[in-house]
Amino acid sequence: MSAGAAPAGGKGSTLEKYEAVIGIEIHCQLKTASKMFCGCSTEIDGAEPNSHCCPVCLGLPGVLPTINKSAVEFVMATGFAIEATVAESTRWDRKNYFYPDLPKGYQISQYQLPLAANGKLTFDTSDGPFTVLIRRAHLEEDTGRLIHADLDAEEPGTPADGSSKGAGRRVSLIDYNRSGMALMEIVTEPNIRTGEQARRYAEELRLLMRTIGASDAEMENGQMRVEANVSIRPVGREAFGTRTEVKNMNSMKAVERAIAFEIQRQTEVLESGGTVTMETRGWDEPSQSTYHMRPKEEENDYRYFPEPDLPPLRTTPEWRAQIKARLPELPAARRTRYQTQHGLSAYDAAVLVNDPGATSLFEAALASAAGVPAKLIANWVTGEYARLVKSAEGVSGGKVAAAELAALIKLVTDGAISGTNAKEVFAEHYASGTAVASIVEARGFRQISDSGVLESAIEEVVTANPAAVADYKAGKTNAAGFLVGQVMKATRGQANAAMVQEALRARLDRAE
Ligand code: ADP
Ligand code: MG
Ligand code: ZN
Repeated sequence: MSAGAAPAGGKGSTLEKYEAVIGIEIHCQLKTASKMFCGCSTEIDGAEPNSHCCPVCLGLPGVLPTINKSAVEFVMATGFAIEATVAESTRWDRKNYFYPDLPKGYQISQYQLPLAANGKLTFDTSDGPFTVLIRRAHLEEDTGRLIHADLDAEEPGTPADGSSKGAGRRVSLIDYNRSGMALMEIVTEPNIRTGEQARRYAEELRLLMRTIGASDAEMENGQMRVEANVSIRPVGREAFGTRTEVKNMNSMKAVERAIAFEIQRQTEVLESGGTVTMETRGWDEPSQSTYHMRPKEEENDYRYFPEPDLPPLRTTPEWRAQIKARLPELPAARRTRYQTQHGLSAYDAAVLVNDPGATSLFEAALASAAGVPAKLIANWVTGEYARLVKSAEGVSGGKVAAAELAALIKLVTDGAISGTNAKEVFAEHYASGTAVASIVEARGFRQISDSGVLESAIEEVVTANPAAVADYKAGKTNAAGFLVGQVMKATRGQANAAMVQEALRARLDRAE
């Protein structure tokens, strides 16, 4: 592996003696209608516990798994999207271990022959573009969910984190609804060097999953789970140090922070003469630190062997070609196209492409009949639209019709309404869906750009404010601003402000 240049602690820190080595494992819940090896529905959100189970995903004896084709296709699509080699032939392996959330006592996974191997993903960081090398992407099945409850708690069944708060009688409940859901695991090479690179990788992969429709990849609800393997080594040394594996990061920010914490912790261990222990650690959000969870399992603890109940999986050239051809435009290509074809900045392109809602609004407004420039649409989508979606004003589920946005932009560029009023119109359209033209009409926002009307309004203001006119003539140019304000007031804000300014100055500078 090539040695990255970035030191573990960043420039000027005391940590420059060490360099971090990071590899990321990500599990994504695939967006299939049924589970990985049975016909159970995957609509388990909010469902009654153990209501989406059958003998196969409960691991009862004598049942046979069948392969979910769309899960296979999602991993193939991912493989092509990360420029990996998609296997012609792969097989299934049993990973054996005991835990109550794993009813069969083994997980069907792909060990020796992953469906996709040797890919890569490139994205921007604050230090410029960076490419993560991806070792493999494979298919497996999810486990059930253990819920630790306190029998004496006021709300029985409240999920607990395993720590015993209070002295109540404790019991563990099991919900097998998630058991057997299709999971894709994506493992990188250890060529990541900083927490930021790791976070950006996870963000770009999440965007990719959403773009190809393989997973909704929400971290908050476990659809995407990121684990970081972190070690440090003296700068210039080839051999890797002992790694720890960090789990339970619930957000992208947590991924970056957990890695930074782990680098710092390991540095302190080594600096104080200690040794790093191979272990699995958890990220604790409240204390912003990692804690020991368990010693790391060794590979041979799992006693992998080929799954006897499933035949090897073959992908024909036709099938592979079909999946590849079906890929939508990928984020990296789209960002480049927005810059080259539409002249957008790298920043605007990234913001638009990051959010599927923004992307489709931009594309549709561009395609609408109004013919407004891409840059203006991009400004509205990355500005007002993004602000409304985020802010409390943004009624959740608010919508913008692309043709209405284009019409609104056209009204502004034609000088028919002011930019300030346009924002109000936009917010109202977003909340109610009412057509832009109707809102402009109802609220009397149509700008007065008729120079005759403006000139008579100016004349009235000039006559009514002799003192301000005298100030202006005496060289106090900000008196003009006051007079513009008076004209705007007299026209209830509807005057075309730019025209008023120009006409007023011309009027004032004219000899009396
Ligand atoms: P396991 O299956 O036990 O988690 P792997 O060898 O498959 O172990 O590696 C898992 C991840 O850890 C990969 O992303 C890999 O790049 C990374 N990794 C391996 N060795 C190190 C190391 N010394 N430091 C940091 N990351 C490592
Ligand atoms: Mg691991
Ligand atoms: Zn089932």
